Amino acid sequence: MPPTVAGFTARHIGTDAAAQATMLAAVGYASVDELVKAAVPASIHVDPRATSDIPAAATEAEALAELRELASQNRTARPMIGLGYYDTFTPSVIARNVLENPSWYTAYTPYQPEISQGRLEALINFQTMVTDLTGLATANASMLDESTAVVEGMLVARRASKSTSDVFLVDADALPQTRALLEHRAAALGIELQVVDFARQPGVEPAHRDETPATLPDAFGAFVQYPGASGRVWDPSDVVAAVHSAGGLVVAAADLLALTLLRSPGSFGADVAVGTTQRFGVPLGFGGPHAGYMAVRAGLERQLPGRLVGVSQDAVGHSAYRLSLQTREQHIRREKATSNICTAQVLLAVMAAMYAVYHGPDGLRAIAEDVATKTETLAAQLRGYGLTLVSDAFFDTLRVVVPGTADRVIERARALGYQLLRVDDATVGVSVDETTTAADLAAVATAFGLPDDGAPVDPEGAVPLASVPADLHRQDEYLQHPVFRMHRSETAMMRYLKALADRDYALDRGMIPLGSCTMKLNAATEMAAVSWPEFSRVHPFAPADDVIGYLAMIEQLETWLAEVTGYDTVSLQPNAGSQGELAGLLAIRGYHRANGDLERTVCLIPSSAHGTNAASAVLAGMKVVVVACDEAGNVDLDDLRAKIAAHADTLAALMITYPSTHGVYEHDVLEITQAVHDAGGQVYVDGANLNALLGYARFGDLGGDVSHLNLHKTFAIPHGGGGPGVGPVAAKAHLAPHLPSHPFAQRDDHAGGYTFEGGAISAAPYGSAGILPISWAYVRMMGGDGLRDATAAAVLSANYVAARLRRHFPVLYTGESGLVAHECILDLRPLREETGVTVDDVAKRLIDYGFHAPTMSFPVAGTLMVEPTESEDLAELDRFVEAMIAIKAEAIAVGAGEWPADDNPLVNAPHTAEAVVVEEWEHPYSRETAVYPVRALIRTKYWPPVRRIDQAYGDRNLVCACPPIEAFA
Ligand SMILES: *Cc1c(COP(=O)(O)O)cnc(C)c1O
Repeated sequence: MPPTVAGFTARHIGTDAAAQATMLAAVGYASVDELVKAAVPASIHVDPRATSDIPAAATEAEALAELRELASQNRTARPMIGLGYYDTFTPSVIARNVLENPSWYTAYTPYQPEISQGRLEALINFQTMVTDLTGLATANASMLDESTAVVEGMLVARRASKSTSDVFLVDADALPQTRALLEHRAAALGIELQVVDFARQPGVEPAHRDETPATLPDAFGAFVQYPGASGRVWDPSDVVAAVHSAGGLVVAAADLLALTLLRSPGSFGADVAVGTTQRFGVPLGFGGPHAGYMAVRAGLERQLPGRLVGVSQDAVGHSAYRLSLQTREQHIRREKATSNICTAQVLLAVMAAMYAVYHGPDGLRAIAEDVATKTETLAAQLRGYGLTLVSDAFFDTLRVVVPGTADRVIERARALGYQLLRVDDATVGVSVDETTTAADLAAVATAFGLPDDGAPVDPEGAVPLASVPADLHRQDEYLQHPVFRMHRSETAMMRYLKALADRDYALDRGMIPLGSCTMKLNAATEMAAVSWPEFSRVHPFAPADDVIGYLAMIEQLETWLAEVTGYDTVSLQPNAGSQGELAGLLAIRGYHRANGDLERTVCLIPSSAHGTNAASAVLAGMKVVVVACDEAGNVDLDDLRAKIAAHADTLAALMITYPSTHGVYEHDVLEITQAVHDAGGQVYVDGANLNALLGYARFGDLGGDVSHLNLHKTFAIPHGGGGPGVGPVAAKAHLAPHLPSHPFAQRDDHAGGYTFEGGAISAAPYGSAGILPISWAYVRMMGGDGLRDATAAAVLSANYVAARLRRHFPVLYTGESGLVAHECILDLRPLREETGVTVDDVAKRLIDYGFHAPTMSFPVAGTLMVEPTESEDLAELDRFVEAMIAIKAEAIAVGAGEWPADDNPLVNAPHTAEAVVVEEWEHPYSRETAVYPVRALIRTKYWPPVRRIDQAYGDRNLVCACPPIEAFA
């Protein structure tokens, strides 16, 4: 026999046939297929041929070649469209050491702060950068994009305002995509938007000062764009004062690069500042992913959505970082939720923060001055040629008046390799960025009709911000913390990034057995194309003809995802699972309303649901009614029927997760969905657990009308330390008209030939398109069979862990066959009863054994949820099982009084090197037990940088910006 070269599936799946045989023996089944068929209820099995349209698996080389071919169909024009998206130089040291480094991109959300100090420091740098530049007190880390951040800002204003008005004022010069999002989201919440031309308000712009002062309508808040979408730089102070005097709050979207030169939103009184950090070194990626930001003035910090990194201290009083105001997102409070953001944009926030660390305040200012100077130069050329600009006060964007010839100008520019913005047939927009050269300016000038005399446009003598009134020029300092000075050479930067990465535990060290999050392999081949300029340097509003490769890839991926889920069509626009939920629920809302069922607003949600479900329902304007679960963890059918009966005329939807967040395949799922349909409701199936189903059953066949998927769970997009994500929404045909559209969408039709007409849900038409090559490559290299094999291997691994640990920790829920799905919940409550050892102690002790803890106390308090995924090999699974068994024995010793309850390896975990390198060792267990409980650790030890972190201390003493260096001395 010739040697066989292992295909990608065998590289992706950690267990080979021999290992699987061993595991099957432990579980008690003869084959993997038999096991999965026993676990998945027979009534929902699909014929494997259902995945037939997915091409047979490509090799890694073939997939890369196909991606090269797709990439070559994108035209890498120079994007000068602006509207919140700018080309940027990603410093190579950041591209290589963050974006392309698994130590950063395979990390999980920092819920376990002791093993996350590196990324938490990076994120606190991000928060400091944002608070400094915006002039506000507290920033989070991070938002999904600028437009969703504006919506969140509107919601903060509504919560915090004392005004009873339902009106929110929107700047007429807002980004068009932001206006589209505001309209869609406000409608669902009963908020009335009023678009106001703030330029016509008193004192806004010198040209208008002589006009009669208009008064602003009564409102709970107002949104201003600064600088405006048109590029206009203006002074919002008077608008802010007027809104404040009526009891409203002001949300300002501000460009961070402009803020290095212009007065900060905080200085003119804005309550909330939002925006994007894309142009801080994060590639365009045809729309994302990029980190949005939000900062608030003092007094509003407890209203912030998203994650907030703060400083606390560890068990011995050392400063340490953690997520503040609750370990989990403070706002996802089920039906009382105010925001649904879960997965954010951590990896991109890290990149943007490091761009600021690398350039420092003077470097950023120099970049901004260069951009402003180049813009001024181009403006002078155009004006010299007799052209008029819409505004003479600008930073980086010009609006040029070209009556009747906009299309001609844009076509000429395009022929020269430049993308400009068509505002209307008489106006063209041009945006300059750090990558723009003098030759670019000259070429653009010729597109406007200036003679092409071959001379580059000379910035000599141009003064940045020449027409911006002096009182709008920034005077105060920013980024004065030493971190923005200390790492300016490439050597220092490389070492800083390495030092931070070394403090963290990511998939490049070992297993991250997180229930509900599917921390599977993010293969290097899948990641490769993300960095290619044909994918990374593409503006989201580029003309369709310039993005043919992207559109082809998107169409294929939509089609594949529709097929594997049993739906008719898919939108890739939502940029996280939470946003997919919202898009799906808003589609349901739109459908009911189109049918005249205005009163259908009740959303039934089982008590076991993920927190985002209820939060999304609230944000979709629905009323959440909780359905009980029975002792087996399944939806309580009697309670469901009772709730359906009680809300018969008002039922909008049921949101159900399949398999459930309890990790079991509910047998009654078809009965459940039928009951909802009989009552006129729609069924939303939360697809985050698709890794337990792919190739074996399909949501569409279970009675689902709509689902979101998490490509950052099931489809191999890395977790990035808490983002990015992609949360496509997949639906049946009747909901298709209500799926998200976008004002700048390059294409109207989607998988299956459907046209979407619902409101926008992300700032970019295809959301975080820049990372779609990852999921595309995953499906392409697995093929239909490989996807099915991955599911089987994942289910086998979970059942193997359950089978081996069951004697030590009860497995809380199983299906009728006694099997779990792709994850299992270990019940640690009996252990606590018996020994006093808590789930926290076990989680922290796992760090000493070289593991990331499983999901803690979700969905059931006092439990650990383990999802091993298909990618871990048997040796790693066994290492985990044995660690858990050893920790159990330690707990028993505590219970038996061998170690005191307040001084044992569990309560003292995790142990740092410092903890054991002490003159006098005073604990009743040895140093070896503390840090080398298993001999293999002597060579492979991960040393946590801090001891257990005091959560309450950090909330009492809220510090969310870089602490002084001495704090770590
Ligand atoms: C992860 C998850 C979500 C939310 O997805 P995000 O991308 O984090 O917004 C929703 N439901 C379930 C069951 C999940 O596991």
